[in-house]
Amino acid sequence: MRIILLFLLSISVLTACQSKEETSKSVEMYNTSGDMVGTAELLESPDGIQVKLKLEGLTPGLHGIAVHEYAKCEGPDFKTAGNHLDPEGKEHGLIHPKGAHLGDMPNIEADAGGLVDADLMLPRATLKEGKMSILRGEGTSLIVSEGQDDGVSQPSGNAGARIICGEIKSGKKAEATESPTDPTEFNEEQQE
Ligand SMILES: [Zn+2]
Repeated sequence: MRIILLFLLSISVLTACQSKEETSKSVEMYNTSGDMVGTAELLESPDGIQVKLKLEGLTPGLHGIAVHEYAKCEGPDFKTAGNHLDPEGKEHGLIHPKGAHLGDMPNIEADAGGLVDADLMLPRATLKEGKMSILRGEGTSLIVSEGQDDGVSQPSGNAGARIICGEIKSGKKAEATESPTDPTEFNEEQQE
């Protein structure tokens, strides 16, 4: 009996550890019409988070890209995603002396066919828990802008409208909504 209990205990500890230590994340990117236009593969690395981005359907040229505060991409303006992710209270822009936001990244460039194939870094960010996590709470989002980020103007580099958005979900809230494990919680939701 004791052995069985120990076995069950070690399984639950292992499961708890795994859920806290995510090291990669796949993000689907959508345009303002709700069409999927690409993906972003996020990978935890010793130097931060690596972002492998593939997109289609953009206007050729430079576009701003940044991680925003909330995992909520509601078109057509994607304002539900909030501002740039900034847990340290810094100014916007990679060339701003008091910058940059944790979510700030260099511009991406779409080729003549409107394609983007970019390898980016979020140098101080992590997928693990903590202040610099982009999976804090329900998560964050990745947003591409119509224009180029000038790297210094507040609050977001004068980059124009938000044209593509992808939710970077922590998985915590989503799992709870799909399969409620606490019957009391479920009843409360039904009553609302
Ligand atoms: Zn910013």
